[in-house]
Amino acid sequence: MQQDGFLIRVRGQVQGVGFRPFVWALARRMGVRGVVLNDPEGVLIRCVCANVSVFAAALRDEAPPLARVDAVEVAAARVEIGEGFEIGASEGVGAETRVTPDAASCEACLAEMRDASDRRYGYPFVNCTHCGPRFTIVTGLPYDRWRTTMARFALCSDCAAEYGDPADRRFHAQPVACPVCGPRVWIEPEADDPIAAAAERLLAGQVLAIKGLGGFHLAVDATNAVAVDLLRERKRRPGKPLALMGTLEMVRRYADLSESAEALLADPAAPIVLLPIEGEPLPEALAPGQGQLGWMLPYTPLHHLVLEAVGRPLVMTSGNLSGEPQVIGNDEARDKLSAFADAFLMHDRDIARRLDDSVERADPPMVLRRARGRVPGTVPLPNGFEDAPQVVAYGGQMKGAICLLKNGQALLGHHLGELDEALTWDAFLAADRDYADLFDHKPTVVAVDLHPDFRPSRHGAARAEAEGGAAD
Ligand SMILES: [Zn+2]
Ligand SMILES: [Zn+2]
Repeated sequence: MQQDGFLIRVRGQVQGVGFRPFVWALARRMGVRGVVLNDPEGVLIRCVCANVSVFAAALRDEAPPLARVDAVEVAAARVEIGEGFEIGASEGVGAETRVTPDAASCEACLAEMRDASDRRYGYPFVNCTHCGPRFTIVTGLPYDRWRTTMARFALCSDCAAEYGDPADRRFHAQPVACPVCGPRVWIEPEADDPIAAAAERLLAGQVLAIKGLGGFHLAVDATNAVAVDLLRERKRRPGKPLALMGTLEMVRRYADLSESAEALLADPAAPIVLLPIEGEPLPEALAPGQGQLGWMLPYTPLHHLVLEAVGRPLVMTSGNLSGEPQVIGNDEARDKLSAFADAFLMHDRDIARRLDDSVERADPPMVLRRARGRVPGTVPLPNGFEDAPQVVAYGGQMKGAICLLKNGQALLGHHLGELDEALTWDAFLAADRDYADLFDHKPTVVAVDLHPDFRPSRHGAARAEAEGGAAD
């Protein structure tokens, strides 16, 4: 039966972040009747509601941690709804194609990991709707478990119950896993306790390859000058600053940490943040001649476990051959990183997409390298861009990146690196296809750098010509 009610449209990063179960719980609490669903424009609510302004305000104010609400639009409407409040099926073509960025482990998951009575005690892959891998495990669209690298891990009954319960923190959390059904970690050469063995090797000054979210890192004890020199010698990179990983307490001991820098470090994106050196000394070789160091907090459960076992900050530099992109596969790591690493901390959740760590500055806020944790997030553009034509922009040859414009939003792709290198160019082409799919993007304008010999410029011109136009 149709009745007087409201249509509420929520725009922003509201899919794949637990927004529908949040609305469901909020509606039940406030006695709102109706339905919430995903569609190509975001989240749509049809409801009958006594105080719609309070409900609409709560949608914005109490949104889940990974949501970004750009707009809540309320319109009176005749609606067809039942007695309670339901989570409805998606509507419209292109619904649920949005994938959110990877997010650092949340406090609730870490608490479970440290609780000896919890079924995920010590489990290096604990995650939920509010945290964990996203973009780096996606193999296809729309985003669901069967189109991620978690597809091969069938849910156990406990995980399936959590996945299916709207009141649970893991409702529709695609990478949900536990020690019974999920990925596992090991170390090569083999040891009974991989985390303890990893810590032992790091404390002995060895170089460890650690599989992360968007690729492998090479790690050493950052307080050990001999180990840092060894890593530099093996990588043949004498001067390039090395990124560090530590807990907040560790960072405070070695860096001048402003309030805004601390907030940025603790952001779910967990970027590398450049911080002035201050306090206890660290080896000069970490960043020769520099007044600042790049720090990040541990962002996967595995990082937390290793860091807690070592008790010292770690160098976490990209695991790659000089000039090549970061290594992501286990066999690739064994092949390419064995000249650098004494041991490998591996796991069997595949990395679908290579993403470097993002690099940022807090004071003033500045993104220096946009990558893991930030992509494929969109940036809302100022008013006036809503009806602008769809644009794809291909950027320069060095530090390459792709940008897509649509519906008043810019999807700024990840840092791809120097595009002279064949493997990096392959990554550029893959990113071009990926982002077009993700954004359901059909550009009418291709923007390129005027340099005629830049590969992205030639690529853009060829694409425009193939589609019957010319690159601008
Ligand atoms: Zn979590
Ligand atoms: Zn399970």
